Amino acid sequence: MSKEELECSFCGRKKAETSLLIAGLDAHICDRCIEQAHGIVMEEEVHAGNNELSKEMMLKKPKIIKDFLDDYIIGQDHTKRVMSVAVYNHYKRLLQPKTDDDIEIQKSNIIIVGQTGTGKTLIAKTIARMLNVPLAIVDATVLTEAGYVGEDVESILTRLLQAADYNLEKAQNGIVFIDEIDKIARKSDNPSITRDVSGEGVQQALLKLLEGTVVNVPPKGGRKHPDQKFIEVNTENILFIAGGAFDGIERHISKRLNMQAVGFSASKKENGMEKDNMLQYIIPKDLKDFGLIPEIIGRLPVLTYMNPLDKGTLRAILTQPKNAIIKQYKKLFEMDDVDFVITEEALDYIVEQAIVYKLGARGLRSLCEAVLTDAMFELPGAEDRGLQVTREYVEDKLGKSTIKKLKAVS
Ligand code: ADP
Repeated sequence: MSKEELECSFCGRKKAETSLLIAGLDAHICDRCIEQAHGIVMEEEVHAGNNELSKEMMLKKPKIIKDFLDDYIIGQDHTKRVMSVAVYNHYKRLLQPKTDDDIEIQKSNIIIVGQTGTGKTLIAKTIARMLNVPLAIVDATVLTEAGYVGEDVESILTRLLQAADYNLEKAQNGIVFIDEIDKIARKSDNPSITRDVSGEGVQQALLKLLEGTVVNVPPKGGRKHPDQKFIEVNTENILFIAGGAFDGIERHISKRLNMQAVGFSASKKENGMEKDNMLQYIIPKDLKDFGLIPEIIGRLPVLTYMNPLDKGTLRAILTQPKNAIIKQYKKLFEMDDVDFVITEEALDYIVEQAIVYKLGARGLRSLCEAVLTDAMFELPGAEDRGLQVTREYVEDKLGKSTIKKLKAVS
């Protein structure tokens, strides 16, 4: 056969019609067929991966989930237990074989109440990472009722699709973290003439999504592309985790507790009830008193709370988690052959500053950055590559003005 007569053994195209024709033992394949075959292989892998995923999830018992969370999140034991069970039940629900006993396991969507910076987002992220499912983090404050300035609730699913690289099946088994859910609380008890488009209106719009419905989602989001094709997303198997600080909810809690138990304040100390951590006594009614509508509360049946971060926790966050901040710096310095040592006193001092200036866990990072920037600039390539960070070193680098600046940005 002459060169010109060669053809693809799969599609029959002549060599001249192809850009590339690869020869095998006694067959040829063209570039287009290779691409198509590659597509098929990838798709198969995704399917196989999904099955693997299901098996993997099934094997992850709550204790294993909790162990994984322990590696990354300090303290918050109660919430880690509650979340481990909720996540386990959620994926059990997905994997349950269809039976005719009429028992339908309902969704275990979760709501976490806790001050900002206590690790709510971190928990959602860690769970998604462990299960290898896509995660969308959305801010409830930007949502408005359809037709008003702001984002429709469908935009949440656009984000999830994007996080799943537009793999619909993956997105439909993903996790959505809705932050600042408390900001869409009803503004007042009296229905007013002006519509509450970013409060109760959004809560109403969220209801269906939380429970499970098919939504037409603009894949690129927004209303800027009016002629884009919609993707139908079924939210039935999506796990929703909502988080919020619910500033001032303690008042509702203590009011209720005082009403429930006469002499509550007297017995408080005996029972070890801590006034500065009232959140641990939270019940769904408190969310209702705060301004969430009962239907929303019903669709977020797992309610849990985060403890405020005390000194010990902040100190542990610096060094203990698998990807603790100090471990990260150590690695960065190692890459430049810099021997980085930080003393206990120096770490204590950083934590003290984070507390004094109310910077919280997020502030730890900025404080470390402020302390170490000079060293990270000077040491790479320098002759002496030892770095011993003492309390005095930290004090020096965190001159008052630096902390003021940090406070302003946090
Ligand atoms: P939230 O969502 O509650 O506002 P984040 O989850 O965003 O708080 O936490 C902010 C940062 O603080 C995280 O990136 C993490 O580094 C750190 N952090 C907060 N709480 C913890 C914790 N319990 N364990 C480890 N790191 C924490």
